[in-house]
Amino acid sequence: LNRRLAEFGTTIFAEMSALALRTGSINLGQGFPDTDGPEEVREAAVRALRDGRGNQYPPGPGVPELRTAVAAHQQRRYGLSYDPDTEVLVTAGATEAIAAALLALLEPGDEVIAFEPYYDSYAACIAMAGGKRVPVTLRPDGGSFRLDLDELRDAVTDRTRLLLINTPHNPTGTVLSRQELTAIAELAVERDLLVVTDEVYEHLVFDDAEHVPLAAFPGMRERTVTISSSGKTFSFTGWKVGWITASPGLVTAVRSAKQYLTYVSSGPFQYAVAEALALPDTYFEAFRADMLAKRDLLAAGLEEAGFRVFRPAGTYFVTTDIRPLGETDGVSFCRSLPERAGVVAIPNAVFYDHREAGAPFVRFAFCKRTGVLEEAVRRLKASA
Ligand code: PMP
Ligand code: GLN
Repeated sequence: LNRRLAEFGTTIFAEMSALALRTGSINLGQGFPDTDGPEEVREAAVRALRDGRGNQYPPGPGVPELRTAVAAHQQRRYGLSYDPDTEVLVTAGATEAIAAALLALLEPGDEVIAFEPYYDSYAACIAMAGGKRVPVTLRPDGGSFRLDLDELRDAVTDRTRLLLINTPHNPTGTVLSRQELTAIAELAVERDLLVVTDEVYEHLVFDDAEHVPLAAFPGMRERTVTISSSGKTFSFTGWKVGWITASPGLVTAVRSAKQYLTYVSSGPFQYAVAEALALPDTYFEAFRADMLAKRDLLAAGLEEAGFRVFRPAGTYFVTTDIRPLGETDGVSFCRSLPERAGVVAIPNAVFYDHREAGAPFVRFAFCKRTGVLEEAVRRLKASA
């Protein structure tokens, strides 16, 4: 393993899911639903397979039906207009979109600012692209983790090339407000920075939180690569259908990298996801209401089990503080939790460069059936 990758080892998600299997624990670690997405979308995939649509290499940018559906979705939800032919690119999940964007847009030594804690592939992909990551730490502030805008401004240097944003934010559940997004946009324009924004949880926002794409802010459309994925919104994490929307120049750049990573992927599933994106608003509302009920169930249960809970405004993760339980080290807590309680969770520390800043925080996923969440809570309470 070369020096660029040596520090990353095995992704925490693989490690913890293997631990869940080995110990027969309830897996609230890796974020994937334990029920599949809509039946009619699965039927659409079957039809595509049977009718021979997508069984051979699909077009490099993605099948036209899906690119059109992505553009229509951005228009319908956010009033953002993208040309399906030149401003949309289908990728192998959001993961490839992140990798291809960073590989395409960074020069060696370029600095990338990302919010810490960050989704684990960010650090590895910045490294693979030869970039330097510059973390800006989200800190507990009342009931949520917030961005310090002065710290963000101070992190920008002459070497900064790109802001890597994630809202709704994994693992903290923070949703950036209009005011925060306005400040980020102004900074990007002032310092002439590119922005890659990972919005895979765009449909998972709760209470009065609102997801606004960064690309919608003044001066942002031409400098922003927006990433999303069918894995989260339609509960098909195994299909690996993601996409970017961006200006033609940025799409062409990202595609240059993408063509040598996977070339293309997920042929028949692309047709099915095109149909999923056209589902009526009732689908998206029901999905959100269902996840909201699960959030409330797990958040209340974790509180009863003695955790301090940061109630997420978005995503399907709850970050907790384990100090009220008399614990300080999330990594050792998560290593022993399966044996002690039969539950698997993720230590947020692995998403930090400043590990001590994340030490007492532990993430639980709530995209699971109600009975599974109830049983997890029962076990956590019994072991407390
Ligand atoms: N970004 C974030 C913030 C995520 O949480 C995930 C999925 N866990 C991804 C990207 C990857 O998405 P995909 O499965 O579509 O590759
Ligand atoms: N994004 C999911 C999570 O945060 C997992 C993705 C993965 O396993 N790479 O749990």
